[in-house]
Parts: sequence; structure tokens; C-alpha cells
Amino acid sequence: MLNGKTIVVTGAGSGIGRTTSEVLAKAGAAVVVADIDEVGGAATATGIKAAGGEAVFRRCDVANEDDVEALIGFAVERYGKLDGGFNNAGIELYNKPVHELSGAEFRRVIDVDLVGVFYCVKHEFRAMMKTGGGSIVNTASSVSDRPLPVSTDYTSAKAGVVGLTKAAALDGGPLGIRVNAVCPGLILTPMTKDRLMNDPVFSQAVQGIRARHHIGRFGETIDIANAVSWLLSDLSSFVTGSEMMVDGGYSI
Ligand code: NAD
Repeated sequence: MLNGKTIVVTGAGSGIGRTTSEVLAKAGAAVVVADIDEVGGAATATGIKAAGGEAVFRRCDVANEDDVEALIGFAVERYGKLDGGFNNAGIELYNKPVHELSGAEFRRVIDVDLVGVFYCVKHEFRAMMKTGGGSIVNTASSVSDRPLPVSTDYTSAKAGVVGLTKAAALDGGPLGIRVNAVCPGLILTPMTKDRLMNDPVFSQAVQGIRARHHIGRFGETIDIANAVSWLLSDLSSFVTGSEMMVDGGYSI
């Protein structure tokens, strides 16, 4: 499905980004595995290569525009072009009500989860414009449609990702660049299993969140990976500006 394509994945050292990188490589793509975490990122690339796929790790802090520009330049230099970008790196909420959240905390989540996506989209556009187009997928969240309490930082960032996606899709249309967002429900990853579910505030809400996943379970990383690989492939050639809910019915 993705033979011959070069795709950059951010946040690829863990969770959704790692599984998606593996699925993209299995489908034939050369994957540029990007993460701020050098150990996790390198492990993702090593695993893909051990399974017979093509991948290379590159450290990148998505909140730093120079890093992002260098990442995209590296991908083009190594593989000759850029066909896809999965802008997925993100950090979680601070689990504080709006009146307790500091400006620095709010700005940190916006910097990584929203401004980081902007930097990626901007530099992916510049690379894709040179070869006639491509497909970009940004990771938003089902909370962008249905917020949780104590999540003004994260919800603001993810709602921003949806707005950015739609506006960028308008800019991308004439350039042959499609831009879509994927909105995961609660997916079992290190972010949720190891961190959020152990947080005293978040853990109290887990049963209620679970009940809103009408399919009757939380998501697995493969649920997101399969949707993203379709959006990055030519099978979705008429899909742009969409927010694809992959959330077990959470947002119904
Ligand atoms: P995760 O913590 O397992 O993985 C996130 C990865 O992003 C990590 O490898 C981390 O090192 C990397 N990262 C963090 N800050 C970075 C930065 N500044 N630059 C580059 N890399 C950075 O989390 P996950 O659950 O796989 O989350 C992936 C994405 O999905 C995030 O954007 C998250 O907000 C979103 N999301 C997750 C869920 C869920 O339930 N897990 C639900 C909705 C949306």
C-alpha cells in the first residue's frame, strides 16, 4: 500500500508512533523515525530493520523549529523525497483545573502538541511542494470534540490541531497535499497505562471514560496505526481536511 513512499513519523519512539511506524514499514514505506527520546526512537528503527523493513532514527524536538527543519531536510537527503508525514509527538495534560494551571504549564502543552505540529506541517509542505504533493496526518484527540474536565491545556492544543489541519488542507489542495487529523479515543500506551492511569486525578475519571467507549474496550495502538496508514496511502486520495474519529464511539 505504501511501496516507494518516504514517511516521517514524530513521537515514533513509543506508543502510537512506534506501532504506526512498524505498520507503515510493513506496507512498504521507508520510515524516518523521529523522537526526542533517543533510546526509544533508536529501538523503533532497529525493530523495523530487524523485521526486514526500511527505517532510520533521527532525534528531533518538535517544539524546536530548527530541529524540525533539519529532520525534514534529513529525510529528503536520505530518501530523495518526502511523501508522508505523521505528526504525532505529544505530551499529556497536567490534570489541573483551569484555575490551578500555570501559564508555563499551559504554554508547554501548546508548544509541543500544537506548535510542534505547525512546524512539522510547515516544513513538510515545503518538501512536498517540490515533488507535487503528499499526505499529512496530525494526531489530535477525541477530546478535541468532547473535552474532559481538568484538560484545558491538552484540549486547547488538540482542538487547535483540528483547526490547523482544516486550514492547512485548504492551503494544500492546490498543491496536491492532503492534510487530515486522526482523533484517538483512550489508547493503551505508556502515556495512559504508565502515567495518566496512575495519576490520582485522572484515575478517578477512568471508569467514566471507559463507559463512553461504546465498542466496549479501550483502543490499542494498532487501531490508530491502521487508520493512519490508510490516510497516508493513495487509497484515501479524495480525503482531506477530515478529523477521523478512531475512538470506539467516545465522541458519539
Ligand atoms: P507516548 O508517551 O507513548 O508517546 C509519545 C512520544 O512522543 C514519546 O516517544 C515521546 O518521547 C515523544 N515526544 C514527546 N515530546 C516530544 C517532543 N517535544 N519532540 C519529539 N518527540 C516528543 O504517547 P502516545 O499515547 O503514543 O501518544 C501519541 C500521540 O497521541 C500524542 O500526540 C498524544 O497526545 C496522542 N493521543 C494519545 C491518546 C492515548 O490515549 N494514548 C489519545 C488521544 C491522543
